[in-house]
Amino acid sequence: MMRSMIIGIVKETQFKRVAIAPSAKSKLDKLGLNPWIESGAGIEAGFTDAMYGENQFNIASRSEILSNADILVSISPLGEEELGKMKKGALYISMFAPYQNPDVIAGLNQFDLNIVSMDMVPRTTLAQAMDVLSSMASLAGYKAVLKAADHYNNMFPMMMTAAGTIPPTKVMVLGAGVAGLQAIATAKRLGAVVEAFDTRAAAKEEVMSLGASFVEVEGAADDRGAGGYAVQQSEEYLQRQRALVQERALKSNIIIATAQVRGKKAPLLVTEETITNMKPGSVIVDLAASTGGNCAFTQNNATIVRNGVVIIGNSDLADELCGVASTLFSNNILNFLQMAVQNGSLNLSEENEIIRSALISKAH
Ligand code: NAD
Repeated sequence: MMRSMIIGIVKETQFKRVAIAPSAKSKLDKLGLNPWIESGAGIEAGFTDAMYGENQFNIASRSEILSNADILVSISPLGEEELGKMKKGALYISMFAPYQNPDVIAGLNQFDLNIVSMDMVPRTTLAQAMDVLSSMASLAGYKAVLKAADHYNNMFPMMMTAAGTIPPTKVMVLGAGVAGLQAIATAKRLGAVVEAFDTRAAAKEEVMSLGASFVEVEGAADDRGAGGYAVQQSEEYLQRQRALVQERALKSNIIIATAQVRGKKAPLLVTEETITNMKPGSVIVDLAASTGGNCAFTQNNATIVRNGVVIIGNSDLADELCGVASTLFSNNILNFLQMAVQNGSLNLSEENEIIRSALISKAH
């Protein structure tokens, strides 16, 4: 009888999330995969070793997993030393963001491994079920609004009380992609008045369908052919946009900044002058912090206060929802594996557009 392939899951070193949840077991069975998980890998996401054990995961050490896995999954990439310990010809699935650092691919080519970077899966309807960027961005957009609300010294909804009428909070969202749209929906649910900026023409209708208003800056560069992503705008456009952002920011209480251009530095949209003139007590959550941020003072992974404005720089807010984030990531991976594993063996056919895009390095 053919030995079933081992799928290994290691404990994350940078995140509270885990790549595969215990609930994945029935789908792994259907694929003929035998799961091994590092002891303690799911604990911070609320999944104990006992829960994995009940689902017939084999609890193993990290080194046993590295040397035995036919398929290995992690959210943040392993370093070269650990990649060197993996079985030759194995499939390793992680998130390498090669669009931020193209050298990463040359480094991976030295290993006799098939390497899939889930952040290279195309943003198409067909690939939606395995789109980890969307799953994580959606959670981050939601959490960004809750974080802002928590730091804000007022409440979001309009309220008429015997002691007086409280006006609704004004929220401005910069970038209406996956995170921005979820931030709009969340802020609306909390009762805020919301407006949003984006450079992509397609975003206008989506923003308006959520009940927010869309602030248009004329003359954005054409993004057709960029795979749904935004393209870099001219300095002249950005200057006009910054002026309009400033005008609106002075009337806002909360800014959720999510504007990014894949593979480039995030556009600076909220200047020092804007922050200096904003109302003290305002809160900015900058989800673009890891690519430079949309605000002048943003520091990645830090919360600072300037002119009484709280500026939170965090591009990993999905990790603060590590339970649901792990479950969604796990579902995305299982959906990918349903395509990449057939009859108990790997089927990495590059005729498949999703595999061709995501397979960034091939076994020799
Ligand atoms: P992202 O994180 O790369 O960027 C966030 C948003 O910032 C984008 O909407 C972008 O247009 C916007 N932006 C860039 N420069 C800006 C500026 N100067 N001012 C204001 N906004 C600016 O984007 P994302 O959320 O990863 O989404 C990327 C694209 O993929 C979107 O078009 C999204 O709709 C699309 N998408 C499609 C599918 C699908 O069809 N299955 C799934 C997910 C995402």
